[in-house]
Amino acid sequence: MIGAGPSGIAEALAFARRGAKVALLESAAHVGGHLAEFMEPVFGNPNGWEWAKAMRRELEAARVDVRLNAEAIGRFEEHFFVACDERGLLRTRADRVIVATGAYDQNELFADSDRAGVYSARAFSKLVALYGVLPARNVLIAGSGDFAVSLALSLPELGARVAGVVEKGGALRAAPALAERLRSTGTPVFLRHRVTAAVGWNRVKSARVAAVDEGEGEITTRCDAIIVDAPRQPSWEIASQAGADVGFVSERGVFQTRCDPGGATSQPWLFVAGEAAGDEVRLG
Ligand SMILES: Cc1cc2nc3c(=O)[nH]c(=O)nc-3n(C[C@H](O)[C@H](O)[C@H](O)COP(=O)(O)OP(=O)(O)OC[C@H]3O[C@@H](n4cnc5c(N)ncnc54)[C@H](O)[C@@H]3O)c2cc1C
Repeated sequence: MIGAGPSGIAEALAFARRGAKVALLESAAHVGGHLAEFMEPVFGNPNGWEWAKAMRRELEAARVDVRLNAEAIGRFEEHFFVACDERGLLRTRADRVIVATGAYDQNELFADSDRAGVYSARAFSKLVALYGVLPARNVLIAGSGDFAVSLALSLPELGARVAGVVEKGGALRAAPALAERLRSTGTPVFLRHRVTAAVGWNRVKSARVAAVDEGEGEITTRCDAIIVDAPRQPSWEIASQAGADVGFVSERGVFQTRCDPGGATSQPWLFVAGEAAGDEVRLG
């Protein structure tokens, strides 16, 4: 098993409880993946970090061989995987390999989108939830998925103002309950609009926002951060290096390991799970 986020943990426990010998390689120093950063209750635990600690105990009880700080770097020969930890190279051979390495955040294309002060929604959440840092006090949110809207709801409680939520489509993309909560706060929502530029020198001072439909004007909104919630790119490198087919999913604009609904790839012994398999996890 490669990756100890929620999907890697679930697969590892399921296999171990059916009697398989399971090794779980995780590049971070803790299990839990992105869900460990969540500040709200997770499956009966007070927050994601406590849930991750409970999962660690369950993995131990199920005798899963958990290797932390162990980054899988590739497959050599048949099913022979190599990972790198602080002691050096770790070699593992398995009948079946499941890749659950998650997905990467992507930026939107707009002028000066690499200006200091432009964050991905998950990076911003990570700074707030895991490190207790509030990097900005007046934010504009580009995108209206679950992550974007949950940030728009929680940031005011932490002392930040939300200048607006900008969505290219005609409706908020977040789960209906989240979208409804956002509407009830009176936060400005710009539907059928997009961010066209980050403005500022050393860092973001404002953002330009334009209507998607031609002929309508552009507005400038003061903000000290632009938080981008764009479709995430599933990680595919490990599966591809191991010989699985990868293709472009045009409706989401991402590359992804080709797999069936059960995660089976073009290699009979290699499977993908979770966001690495293109699963879109909904909050709530
Ligand atoms: C603030 C926040 C709140 C959230 N709230 C919820 C919620 O309420 N409900 C919900 O369902 N979801 C929630 N999510 C989303 C959820 O956390 C993610 O969708 C989920 O973590 C994806 O699971 P995953 O196992 O596919 O990937 P990840 O969680 O990204 O895990 C992938 C793991 O693989 C490891 N890895 C990557 N490459 C390698 C490698 N080469 N070798 C070894 N290890 C590697 C990574 O370190 C990571 O631990 C939240 C996320 C955040 C950040």
